[in-house]
Amino acid sequence: MATVLETSRPTLRVPTTPFKNEPLTDFSNVENARHMRAALSKVRAELGREYDMVIGNRLIKTKEKIKSLNPARPSEIVGVFQNADREHVEPAVRAAAEAFESWKRTTVEQRASLLHVTASILRERKFEFSAWMVYEVGKNWAEADADLAETIDFAEFYAREALRLARAETPAQLPGERDTLMYSTLGVCAVIPPWNFPCAIMAGMTMAAIVCGNTVVVKPSHDSPTIAMKFFEALQEAGLPDGVVNFCPGSGPSFGSGLVEHPLTRFIAFTGSKEVGLDINQRAAVPRPGQKWIKRTILEMGGKDSIIVDADANLDAAVEGVAQSAFGFQGQKCSACSRAIVDEKIYDVFLERLKERVSKIKVGEPAENNPMGPVISEKAMKTILNYIEAGKKEGRLIHGGGPAKEAGEGYFIQPTVIADVAPTARIAQEEIFGPVLAVIKSRNFDHALEIANNTEFGLTGAVYSTSREKLERARTDFHAGNLYFNRKCTGAMVGAHPFGGFNMSGTDSKAGGPDYLLLFTQAKSVAEKIGDVASGSKK
Ligand code: NAD
Repeated sequence: MATVLETSRPTLRVPTTPFKNEPLTDFSNVENARHMRAALSKVRAELGREYDMVIGNRLIKTKEKIKSLNPARPSEIVGVFQNADREHVEPAVRAAAEAFESWKRTTVEQRASLLHVTASILRERKFEFSAWMVYEVGKNWAEADADLAETIDFAEFYAREALRLARAETPAQLPGERDTLMYSTLGVCAVIPPWNFPCAIMAGMTMAAIVCGNTVVVKPSHDSPTIAMKFFEALQEAGLPDGVVNFCPGSGPSFGSGLVEHPLTRFIAFTGSKEVGLDINQRAAVPRPGQKWIKRTILEMGGKDSIIVDADANLDAAVEGVAQSAFGFQGQKCSACSRAIVDEKIYDVFLERLKERVSKIKVGEPAENNPMGPVISEKAMKTILNYIEAGKKEGRLIHGGGPAKEAGEGYFIQPTVIADVAPTARIAQEEIFGPVLAVIKSRNFDHALEIANNTEFGLTGAVYSTSREKLERARTDFHAGNLYFNRKCTGAMVGAHPFGGFNMSGTDSKAGGPDYLLLFTQAKSVAEKIGDVASGSKK
């Protein structure tokens, strides 16, 4: 492993071209499908391996292990991991704090180069990384490929953003002074990601922190430590020095909250549920003995996202957009559409067409690239099935309604549509995080907007309408961090759609946007009187 001072690779590879999104892979292309099958076989042969915890330059084993399982075949172990506990918080944060002393002195070019090189490593191994996500979280090929493409986008985008911030200028110069503004480092960042974008979100938060000169303790989700380890290995291969990122899979309530509370933790980058986000917010607010700062929290949380289908909408496009947004990756996206708010004038015909469209969604093995795979775990399956049972009482079951047993031994659930749901019903208000769509009838566009804004969340939303006036009304009145017109409400792209939510959906950090890295830095203003150095004055 490299030390911090060895990071200046012989040639820095700093990005010089403008940012461009990584193209998605077309799996209808025979060659690409062949590569994907080959990657799946290669990765299958590596399933079940044990991986160490990595703190500084130490490889650590614990007695207790975490087993990451394939949700499509829970008898299959994807990887075995060490279980970081309270006792590992101190060494992990110390290692990050020690590495910070030298990492903060590296140049922005060195750090941007690390991300740029990491992006090329990921690009070379795209199929392999996607295959790991197929096995570990049950993504189909296209969903896994999109996750990896977003990871590459974050690497390339944040590398360029860090360079841009380093060239920031003050808006004004006082006569006789040289006034500068610099975005300096913060310190140790606790990165706590979810499992549903197991590569992109975990890697995005980690890379944003390190490219700004901070160091990281990353605690991947219990459900997706393997892909996090593969990303960590790619960082190491790109020249990551010891201690700059410390890889600590462990439990949220013990290791995760210990990390949040440690006095040397300077800030926390979290993405996950509302409940955990709020808990982190509270814990981080309490100053601990020896703590010198107010901890910063970047918290991106849950959603209950709506698509409004207006009476004048293009129905085919709306049906397709709702189906894709509701059931892509089994509805396990914070941006997933879980409420379709449909104008009463087209309600019946919309439902009929939606039912027809959803009945074509095949549920099965993600490794065989079925459109819908399993949900993440047995616990998630139980929760979702409970919501479906509650939903059957709160509305009219149109499609699905239970486990998809024919799909295999895994955690498969039928795509479920429940109509005639009241805007205040439980399934219209609470995040289910599974393949369950509530359809709600609206009297008119004003009523639709009122329903769309009636939850505590505010993450994504979409409107299907051909009326310019209505779209403009939604632009100001639909309260969501990411709003889409005449397209689905999932699939935010780095650069084009900076991502983050309002209200209980989070702190609106706008990952993949021009403001994101500001959250990983602190601005310092330096004013120097011109002439005094040349005249020898030290004042
Ligand atoms: P989760 O909140 O259960 O877990 C997220 C992370 O927090 C995990 O690493 C977990 O181990 C850790 N954790 C759990 N308890 C903790 C504690 N007490 N202290 C510190 N860490 C703790 O969420 P999940 O099930 O992994 O992910 C699904 C959730 O994430 C959904 O609510 C979804 O909407 C949300 N999400 C939001 C976004 C966004 O950008 N807003 C993106 C993806 C997912």
